[in-house]
Amino acid sequence: MKMTLLATAAVLGLALSGAASAQEQTFITIGTGGVTGVYYPTGGAICRMMAKTRAETGIRCGVESTGGSVYNVNAIRSGDLEFGVAQSDVQFNAYNGAAAFAQTGAISDLRAVFSIHPEPFTVVARADSGIVTFDDLKGKRVNIGNPGSGQRETMEVVLAAKGWTTADFAMASELQAGEQSQALCDNNIDAMIYTVGHPSGSIQEATTACDSVLVNVVGPEIDQLVADTPFYRVATIPGGMYRGSAADVTTFGVGATLVTGAAVPDEVVYQLVKSVFSDLDQFKSLHPAFANLDPVQMANDGLSAPLHPGAERYFREVGLIK
Ligand code: GLU
Repeated sequence: MKMTLLATAAVLGLALSGAASAQEQTFITIGTGGVTGVYYPTGGAICRMMAKTRAETGIRCGVESTGGSVYNVNAIRSGDLEFGVAQSDVQFNAYNGAAAFAQTGAISDLRAVFSIHPEPFTVVARADSGIVTFDDLKGKRVNIGNPGSGQRETMEVVLAAKGWTTADFAMASELQAGEQSQALCDNNIDAMIYTVGHPSGSIQEATTACDSVLVNVVGPEIDQLVADTPFYRVATIPGGMYRGSAADVTTFGVGATLVTGAAVPDEVVYQLVKSVFSDLDQFKSLHPAFANLDPVQMANDGLSAPLHPGAERYFREVGLIK
């Protein structure tokens, strides 16, 4: 664990009271994603909630921009991060050693904390590319996402479901989430893929800096994925949210979740969860993608790794779980 404990003497307090008061400080870091996604501001929102009680808890919360879900769970495994945001499918695959984790092995110490906002699998194409449906991506230049990102993990699942490989594209690039909007508008790619909450800065950039459209991801293979897999569900991106996409867009999606490691102390996880849930209205006001968050769903849905005991303690206390 990289968790640092610092004993700092409260010099002024000592001088005034003569008592040996020392405040122990704990540093935690939340791994997120690209800065124009929703994970990064989500981490910021959690830390902002925790900062309100820092004087009592001694916990200092920081945020790191990372390559995304898969990177985050691997960094939790190695102890480089205490918390991370991860897609619900990545949480499942990591804990069960499936998909991308079949080779690296299950992360059996992964623990769920709570679920957050929905993340539709979002395909954005240049308006001049002729791409209207997902099948039109064949033969095009597509950014399939950096290894370590959640969208790359989900894209691999979609390709397998379709019976496609990256050779079906004219080009399959691996740009980071934060780079793809500009690549799209510079005409270096025809389409980009992002599993992300809405509205997100990245999709706003891609739809305002040039003419582009959101693409439906539907069809029998997607229906099958949703039917077969508990964490995939049909998702709608509301029409009018982004320039150029006036009609609702139908796709499938996952949920963003907060995860941690079994070795992170119960008290730290408890305090984090308490800071978010004790003023959920304020938390929800910190990003528009949080608009429909519901505390019961957050404590129960999309969590396939065991709940961390610190989170469980808080949820039991307030009756969010039985
Ligand atoms: N879902 C993406 C991932 O797992 C990140 C989305 C975001 O940063 O908001 O990599």
